[in-house]
Amino acid sequence: MSNLADGTPKKFDMESDVVIVGYGGAGAVAAITAHDLGARVLILEKTSAGGGNTKLSGGTFLTPTGMGGVPYIEKISYGTMERDIAAAFLETALKNESYMRSLGGEPEISPDFSVGYPSPSGKASFPHVPGAEFMSKRVLKRVKGTRGERLWEVLATNVERRGVPVLLDTPVRELLTNGAREVTGVVAERDGKKITVKARKAVVLTTGGFEFDEALKWDFLASKPFYAYGHPGNTGDGIRMAQQVGAALWHMPATSASAGFKCDEYQASFGIRFISERFIYVDKNGQRFTDEAGVELHEIAAKLAVFDSKRMDYPRIPMYAIFDDVARRKAPLNPGGTGINQYLYKWSADNSAEVARGWIAQGRSIRDLAARIGIDPAALEKTVATYNQYCKTGKDPDFERGKETLAAIETSSFYAIKLYPCLINTQGGPRRDKDSHVLDAWGKPIPRLYAAGELGSIWGFMYQGSGNNGESIVFGQIAGRNAAGEKPWG
Ligand SMILES: Cc1cc2nc3c(=O)[nH]c(=O)nc-3n(C[C@H](O)[C@H](O)[C@H](O)COP(=O)(O)OP(=O)(O)OC[C@H]3O[C@@H](n4cnc5c(N)ncnc54)[C@H](O)[C@@H]3O)c2cc1C
Repeated sequence: MSNLADGTPKKFDMESDVVIVGYGGAGAVAAITAHDLGARVLILEKTSAGGGNTKLSGGTFLTPTGMGGVPYIEKISYGTMERDIAAAFLETALKNESYMRSLGGEPEISPDFSVGYPSPSGKASFPHVPGAEFMSKRVLKRVKGTRGERLWEVLATNVERRGVPVLLDTPVRELLTNGAREVTGVVAERDGKKITVKARKAVVLTTGGFEFDEALKWDFLASKPFYAYGHPGNTGDGIRMAQQVGAALWHMPATSASAGFKCDEYQASFGIRFISERFIYVDKNGQRFTDEAGVELHEIAAKLAVFDSKRMDYPRIPMYAIFDDVARRKAPLNPGGTGINQYLYKWSADNSAEVARGWIAQGRSIRDLAARIGIDPAALEKTVATYNQYCKTGKDPDFERGKETLAAIETSSFYAIKLYPCLINTQGGPRRDKDSHVLDAWGKPIPRLYAAGELGSIWGFMYQGSGNNGESIVFGQIAGRNAAGEKPWG
């Protein structure tokens, strides 16, 4: 039905001006924008509810304060984002706060989260980079529920208020094109049947990432395995659909990822954060490898992507967090409030339930703990003793961990939790330009095809926290505006 010569059927089952594929943050913003510009909009969502990763997120969204942020974005992107895209992003993102306010949200400065999140009061993730002073993060004041739920509630309420139809349980399977390579609609599945949907103006792909597509992750991501915290509906469908019509891909290896706990009982992983400083990370050989308290949350997983070709193994996958009884009692290692597991499991306040389940290993001594997790006891004992010595002198010559974060691991019980690289989200997907057009392999826009959000995100190297929701708001508007501005083809 959909070969590139002319895959457009004579008769469609449904039609609209703008067809949006995927009902998360970017899809909702694109729908609101296109609708407000007078277009008829239809949203098709694969799963039985909207929200995607957006609803499961921490809800923070980047709201820069000036165009002086361009050098910062360019620097952390390391040549993976064109300057005009960075500028287009910033120009619109400057108004993210007022935009969310106009939809009924009440933005406030995003709070700090934990040790290893060096971005106080909602500022830049990499404060030493020029232009960092223009980065600023917001969240919406909660009414009830989590911050991600509040962000989603505001967006979804605006979609509903406008009467934009949303077809749930309607996965889109492929794009339709005509002889001029224009995207003319989609093929979706509904109630077990294939339906064709005409898009008179354009299709906007907002299907999110590929966190739950094992093959794409294995092929493209630097660490193996890679688990994920978020929405199981995100299986890279938009990538395949865009490839089918000749899209170039970009940013496929880029991720926003941290270290999390994964067990067989749950499909998704649990984010692990320390509130107490009394912890270190070690590899399978019991060796430290980073400034645990200074590594930016979204960059922790990147530290694990080291492959030892002599042993043909990843020495840091899994890695272990080693901590003591004070840290164990201080706060739940998984604070909840984000990710899909928040609806499935409540982590105990003092982590005792997870010790009892065997998710956290316990030892009477560091040697005993090492034996329980299969690490050389002498090596781990030496590592912890050396670290504790650094705590006494206030200096960590190995990784320059900040003096104020050097707290010894020394109370009577000792603990370890096995950690894997876990996706907050992927960034790869169809390449796009500053106008949200999807580009083909020669850099030309594929007519009537737009994309926004995490699918082919602009973030292609290091990641500025809150950049993804910030981007969904920005490029959702840009894609919605340009899609609504297309002349109908028929
Ligand atoms: C635990 C966690 C915390 C996070 N915290 C933050 C944060 O605080 N700040 C921040 O900026 N970012 C955060 N992120 C990342 C951010 O939430 C996402 O990158 C962003 O929400 C992506 O929005 P989106 O609209 O592109 O995709 P999503 O919101 O994921 O929506 C995609 C939708 O497309 C649907 N879909 C998929 N395939 C199809 C198909 N074939 N047909 C129809 N529909 C389809 C999916 O079911 C889904 O509903 C977090 C992510 C997670 C998982």
